[in-house]
Amino acid sequence: MNINPGLQSIPSKVQLEQIDIRSLGKEKIRELYRAGKIPTPEAILEEIVTRAAKEGFRFIHFEPMENMLHIRYGNYDFLKDVVSLPVNLTENIAGIIKIKAGINAFEKRKPQRGKYTLNIGPMQFSLAVNLIAVNAGERITIDMLNKNAELPALQELGLQDTNLEQYKNLISRRNGLILVTGSKDSGKSTTVYASLKHLKSKENNIVTVEDRQEYQLNFATQIIVTPEVGLTREEALKALLQQNPNVALISEIDDNETVSNAIEAVLRGSLVFSTMISRDAISAIPRLLGLDISPYQLSTGLIGVAHQTFVRKLCDSCKESYTPDPAEREILGNTGESDVQLFRAKGCEHCHGSGYSGRTAVFEILTINDELLDAIFQHASFSSIKDIARKHGYVDIRDDIVNKVKSGITSVEELIRLVGN
Ligand SMILES: [Zn+2]
Repeated sequence: MNINPGLQSIPSKVQLEQIDIRSLGKEKIRELYRAGKIPTPEAILEEIVTRAAKEGFRFIHFEPMENMLHIRYGNYDFLKDVVSLPVNLTENIAGIIKIKAGINAFEKRKPQRGKYTLNIGPMQFSLAVNLIAVNAGERITIDMLNKNAELPALQELGLQDTNLEQYKNLISRRNGLILVTGSKDSGKSTTVYASLKHLKSKENNIVTVEDRQEYQLNFATQIIVTPEVGLTREEALKALLQQNPNVALISEIDDNETVSNAIEAVLRGSLVFSTMISRDAISAIPRLLGLDISPYQLSTGLIGVAHQTFVRKLCDSCKESYTPDPAEREILGNTGESDVQLFRAKGCEHCHGSGYSGRTAVFEILTINDELLDAIFQHASFSSIKDIARKHGYVDIRDDIVNKVKSGITSVEELIRLVGN
């Protein structure tokens, strides 16, 4: 896994293996309790969270069972068994997490959410807690974000060639709204933060409005929406405009107020980044119009849409090269080149047998122009809008995946999984 080197010197205070009910059995656990040798629930939780951070995991799953509390760590493509704790810790640990995350301890039926910040060694983590009642207690997932993680450069995100060039052109404009779209977990925020990093300079006044601080930026003013202390989203957006930024980030557009404020900031001269859930880059535009903004606001504000998703990267330790058959070559759209070599997943100990290791983003970048907007306002068909976009350098996400298949980064299997054939 991606072990976190900055945290390795933190000692373990609790040996989780020594209280694992699967290896010890109930009788031995009872003995430990009688001898007072079971650490406190607070200490056990601290160890679970610290160890996840040290080992570079993103998720912690607390899964209550009838006779134990099962703990697993996860990343997007891998789950690891950590420990199974004595069942009487289930409620105690849930109780502590709820207090830390500001979750109502008395509500036992509805799913609940909360968050808290935690310092581990020199790093600060943002922990988002999700909780749902199940038969044996409450199933809890903690999503841990390292706010001090190094931000990638634009080309490290998976932006290449034409896409990289087009995106750099967009973000070098002085004002306008740039939307980064994708599904819920598609790396949109990282792209936006990496864009801000690309633009950091003495001349740029960068201000953000965020619901959850995912990175700590030492070159920007970050306004974090905190309704508990009266800083609502509305107040935060107002404050952003007053700060007169020339570069702004407004996280997640899904209502009229947010998009109107974003466009207002553009009209006042800012380059504004925002994120939105969308199926593809073109669909983001009707979606924006659905938020009740006028075609005029849209055409004066929006300058570009970057849409992205993740593909799994082939494991470099075990991927094997092969000559694709004609059917596969046709999927890739190059029936002529019969000597092309591709790579496919095999599986080894580095990738836990999956053949894949890590992910990279794939993109489509849509630069907005009048011809395109006219077609959209006249409700032209999706394919004719796409044709216009292509004339102006747009490459759809399938083509970007094909490029990454051809360069051995990912496989035909991934292409088919994501976009069909
Ligand atoms: Zn491997």
